[in-house]
Amino acid sequence: MDRELTLICSTCAEAIALDDGCLWVSRRQADTVRQAYRALEQRRTDPLDGSMSFGLADLLALPEPAVWRADHRDCDPEREDGGHYRIPADRLRLRADLLDWTAHLAGKVWLPHTDWRDLLRETRTGSTRLAVSGPRPPAHLAAF
Ligand SMILES: [Zn+2]
Repeated sequence: MDRELTLICSTCAEAIALDDGCLWVSRRQADTVRQAYRALEQRRTDPLDGSMSFGLADLLALPEPAVWRADHRDCDPEREDGGHYRIPADRLRLRADLLDWTAHLAGKVWLPHTDWRDLLRETRTGSTRLAVSGPRPPAHLAAF
């Protein structure tokens, strides 16, 4: 089988068709988001009964999840940054590869503070960072 998933470079908008790039996220940014959530929990937890209460303003003040982005190796604006988690394009060819990566990443405390869920959903229709081909699940099977 050829490939179902092709990363699209966020810098030059061309396909990463020759596996000369990766999907990456800043672990530092994801950890910053995680710490903001933890700080909110600590601020809004009642020390007497452990219950939490917070308002819409608290939620709106939280930072957005860290964004996974794709880049060619030569386009990557932060290619030397060792704080980034990188998945090489040649390890991300099929939807099943994304399942494997999801299983692998599920143990990372920072994963829920990234937009990985959005990336998974993009395998239905494609996006600006991920082109998809091959059979697609029927729309009526979508969870939302
Ligand atoms: Zn590029």
